[in-house]
This record gives sequence, C-alpha cells and structure tokens, in this order.
Amino acid sequence: MAITRFPTELLINGHRVAGQGRVESVLNPCTGEALCEVREASADQLRLAVDAASAAFPAWAALTPRERSVYLFKIADAIEAHGDELAMLESLNCGKPLPAARNDEIPAIADVYRFFGGAIRNMSGPLAGEYLAGHTSMIRRDPLGVVASIAPWNYPLMMAAWKLGPAIAMGNTVVLKPSENTPLTTLRLGELLADILPAGVVNIVCGRGDTVGAPLIRDQRIRVASLTGDVSTGSKIMEAAARNIQRTHLELGGKAPVIVLDDADLGQVVEGLRTFGYYNAGQDCTAACRVYATDKIYEKLVADLSSAVSTIKVGSQQEPGVEMGPLISARQRDRVASFVDRAAQLAHIEVTAGGSALGNQGFFYKPTVIAGARQEDEIVRSEVFGPVVSITRVKDAEQAVAWANDSEYGLASSVWSNNVGTAMNIASRLQYGCTWVNTHFMLVSEMPHGGMKHSGYGKDMSVYALEDYSCARHIMVKH
Ligand code: NAD
Repeated sequence: MAITRFPTELLINGHRVAGQGRVESVLNPCTGEALCEVREASADQLRLAVDAASAAFPAWAALTPRERSVYLFKIADAIEAHGDELAMLESLNCGKPLPAARNDEIPAIADVYRFFGGAIRNMSGPLAGEYLAGHTSMIRRDPLGVVASIAPWNYPLMMAAWKLGPAIAMGNTVVLKPSENTPLTTLRLGELLADILPAGVVNIVCGRGDTVGAPLIRDQRIRVASLTGDVSTGSKIMEAAARNIQRTHLELGGKAPVIVLDDADLGQVVEGLRTFGYYNAGQDCTAACRVYATDKIYEKLVADLSSAVSTIKVGSQQEPGVEMGPLISARQRDRVASFVDRAAQLAHIEVTAGGSALGNQGFFYKPTVIAGARQEDEIVRSEVFGPVVSITRVKDAEQAVAWANDSEYGLASSVWSNNVGTAMNIASRLQYGCTWVNTHFMLVSEMPHGGMKHSGYGKDMSVYALEDYSCARHIMVKH
C-alpha cells in the first residue's frame, strides 16, 4: 500500500490541530530524505493538552473497568483494521523492514491493548476483613491522574501501546510525546483515537526533549512522568520530577549479557544471536549484544557467528528478503561507527564481520561482530544501540555470571545451556529484569518488561504495569 498523506496534526482535547511550535523534518532513514514536516506543540498547546487531560480525568476514572475495556478493544480493532497503513508508516519512518513492522509489531501492539482491556477487569489484591476489632478494612486501587508519557524512536507505535494501555485501562489520562525522529505512527494513532476515545483522555504532542518533553514534565498537574529512553534522559526526568514530587516510570537502556556454556546447542545459539543481536538494526534495549562464551566453544562460536552474520540481508523497507534496515539517523550511525572504530584500535580486538557503514545513501551500518573483547573494554560496558555484538572469552560459568552482573545495566539477559539445572541456577543469580534460557528477546503481554540498576524501574506490560499506574488505597469502616 502506498502512503499518500502523512499525518502531521497533534491531538489536543479530541481535536486534531496543527502544531504551533518549531518545524521538524521527519526523515526516511533508508534515503536520508524528508518524508514530511511536523510542527512541535507550542507552550500554549502543551498547557491546553494538560488542561484537557485534567478535565477528562474524573469522568474517565469513574467509568467501570468493563466500560474502559470496551474502548481498549476498539483501539486494538482500529490498529488491526489499519494494520497495513500503520506498518507502512512505521517502516518508512524508522527504516525497518516492512514485514517486521507488519507481521511482528502490529499484532503484538493490538494484543497489548486487548491484554489491558481484559486484565483491568480481573485485578486482585488482599482480602477485606476486620484487621482491627470493630473495623472493616479494604483495599482499593485507584488511578493517579494525568500521566506524561515520553517515548523513544525504536518502536514508536509499540512504545505508545506499552504506555497508553496500562495508563488508560487503569483510569488515568495521558499526554503522550513521541520521539521527534519518529512521530508519524503516533500521530496517525491520534487520528484514530479522536474517533474512539472521549476528548482529552489521550492527547498527543510532538517535539524535542528540551522544548516539549521537559516543559511537559514541569507542569505541576502531571502526576506520573513515564519515559522510555536513554539513562541520561531518565536522570534529567528524575531531577525534574523531584521538584513536583511526581512518580516516575523509567525504562532506560540496556546491555544484555548472553552467557553461552560448553554444553549449549551452538547451532541454536548462532541462529539466536543472528536474529536477536541484529533485529531492528540492534536498536533495541534488550538486544543480545554482549556474549560471554566459555573457552571450549569460544573459537567455534566466533567463526560460526561471523559467517552467519555476514549473510544478514541489509536493505530498504520493501526490498525482497530484507532482514535489517538502517540506523535511525546519521548521528546514530556515526555514534555506532565511533564505538566500533575505538574498539578496533585495541590490539586484542578482531572485527570478524562488518565494521563499517554501508552504501552512500541513508544511515546503514553493516552487521558487526567484535571478537576478543575484554570485560573492561568500552564495547563491553557501554550501550551501542546498533548492529554490533561483542564476544568475550570466559573460563567458566562462574566468571560469566560475575562479568554479566558487573554492569551498570540490568534490563535483559540470557543463558544458553542444555543443563536445565545449571541454567536455572544462573538465572537465579543474574541481576536483570528478565533472563531467557535458550532464547532471547521474546516478550508477551502477560509478563513484565523492565529493568534494574541504571536500566530503570517500573514495568511495562503485565498486571505490574497496572500497579505502576495506580495507587493502593486503604478504606476503613468503623462498625
Ligand atoms: P532519548 O532519551 O534521547 O529520547 C527518548 C525520549 O525522551 C524522546 O521522546 C526525547 O524527545 C525525550 N527527551 C529527551 N530529553 C528529554 C528531557 N530533558 N525531558 C523530557 N523528555 C526528553 O532516547 P532515544 O535516543 O529516543 O532512544 C534510545 C534509548 O532508549 C536507548 O538508550 C535505549 O536503550 C532506550 N530504550 C529503552 C527501552 C526499555 O524498554 N528499557 C526501550 C526502548 C529504548
């Protein structure tokens, strides 16, 4: 399907309005050319968006879970009904292969809304009872008010679902700001929501972090500041939130360790790394990017992975068989290149696949394998957020666990072994929000996604997200 019109209007109080702030060009990362221009929200428009969310809150919060769930199901239906168009827009704006957007993301996004539509009708908690003689206590779980949601550029429509789903299911209202690089599917979602939700329940404003994100959080009526983004942005949001005693919900970066033991099925490991290290061009906070391989299998893993990675088909959105697209921007491509260049200068490092930019248009970078990486190397310690996997030799499982945990990050991890006991033991000792065994990257709406340490806190998806966007309240009745 061809896109004949790009959505550029914000959603404020149920109305689609042109932004009145500065103009931002939205690029196609495969060509570097502009798709359209989107105007940021002005300061007045930001205030109006928070006015609208505040005004909509009491009536929205007062709906029964069943009534709100009907809206969430309608959103899921609309996403499916417009699945081809949304996938096309997402792939154009992010540069990702169209089949990944259409077949992987759209069904998962619709499922997130359906999950929260169902889960909100089935919340559970402690029993009401007489915990003090002559008094009955009960627990309520109530919404918090207006949520400011700030999203990154890697999976824009999915991140919108992870943020909107639990927040509105729980009875909050939202002002959502997509990334300035990738606003298009969120703006199209806004057009669909204008016909589904009561005015003001969800408002969508565009703009950069400093001109729109930061002032939004500064509004004292915001009760929750929810960010998926960089660790440094998370820290700025915490500082700003401290002034207004706002809750924060932070999904920040990652540097996922992948522990490969002697008894792992190496064929499966290579296939897994080829997929989960390079999906979305590695611009994924859970990307399988930091491999620890035991002595016995190290050489074979480096050789097999390097040849497997060299076969990844890189190309633009609709090229037949394309597996990996470009990075989001020239800046991100140059950042990835600088990490690899610095690593390559070290005598003990060997770049065994990729290692350079690709082509002369767009922001492509070759899928890259870095062998011989040491625990203290920057390439092992810092998030690259690109198609780069490092492999580090370890003497045994104990060293792998110690080095995996020796990181500021704590989002995702995996262990590959045919011994279920060993894998479970290691999983129990890893300091990460998620550990997969003999796979990586798989997410489901029922299970929580979120980090520890500098990867942030607060869960996306699952009933834990409903808890994060609500407050447990005690009601006590004297007899
Ligand atoms: P980013 O932090 O630069 O931007 C994220 C969002 O924050 C954007 O909308 C941006 O405009 C906004 N922002 C920036 N500065 C702000 C400020 N001072 N106040 C308010 N808003 C501000 O991150 P990015 O480059 O868009 O995304 C990549 C990062 O996101 C990576 O570090 C990645 O690991 C992380 N990420 C994490 C998860 C997760 O679930 N943990 C998922 C996706 C991405």
